[in-house]
Amino acid sequence: MGYRANSMEPYFIVLAQKGLENAGSLIVPRGIYVEYELEAVSRNEGYFIIGDRKFYPGPRILDRLATARYIVAFAVTIGAEIGLRIRGLAEQGAPVEAYMLDFIAGLAADNVAEAVQRRAETDAATRGLGCTERFSPGYCGWPVAAQKTLFSLLPPNPCGISLNASSMMTPEKSVSGVFGTGPGMGRKAYGCGGCDKENCPERRRMT
Ligand code: SF4
Repeated sequence: MGYRANSMEPYFIVLAQKGLENAGSLIVPRGIYVEYELEAVSRNEGYFIIGDRKFYPGPRILDRLATARYIVAFAVTIGAEIGLRIRGLAEQGAPVEAYMLDFIAGLAADNVAEAVQRRAETDAATRGLGCTERFSPGYCGWPVAAQKTLFSLLPPNPCGISLNASSMMTPEKSVSGVFGTGPGMGRKAYGCGGCDKENCPERRRMT
């Protein structure tokens, strides 16, 4: 939340603890992943193809995925209930509590994505394969409109997640994306130089 270690005021510590207690009963984690063979890559034209769908993820991501054998498409969510509670708190004039719960929900959704990737990594390891870090439409130079194509590679409304016309997910606290799988592959730090996405959760995690 932007606090340095051990610098949070007691008042906010109590609020954060309350938010964590509330979040426990409001979070319903669900996730799915599907592995596709990497059918084609063109660094010159900036695309890769999986499941007969073509993606233009930008050079930053393409560089990491180009040597993969498989691309794993995933979607996870923590459900709609926590979003309703966050909105309710904001409407009831409790913006700090709403902010705390919203922050906790964002971390929780990302933790579900991490859990799904660890499951996939365990499976990949049994075949002698490793996995890259995760990439999501809307981040690292990948247009968010790619969500629609990405979702076409998953079952309809995966885990109860739907997309609106702007490619935003409902429930809001959901994460979708891909990672690469192949021999000798592993996670690397996101190279964030030159990226202007100040509120990126990955950037926050690294600083
Ligand atoms: S800050 Fe880093 S991880 Fe976040 S979108 Fe930019 S390049 Fe990707």
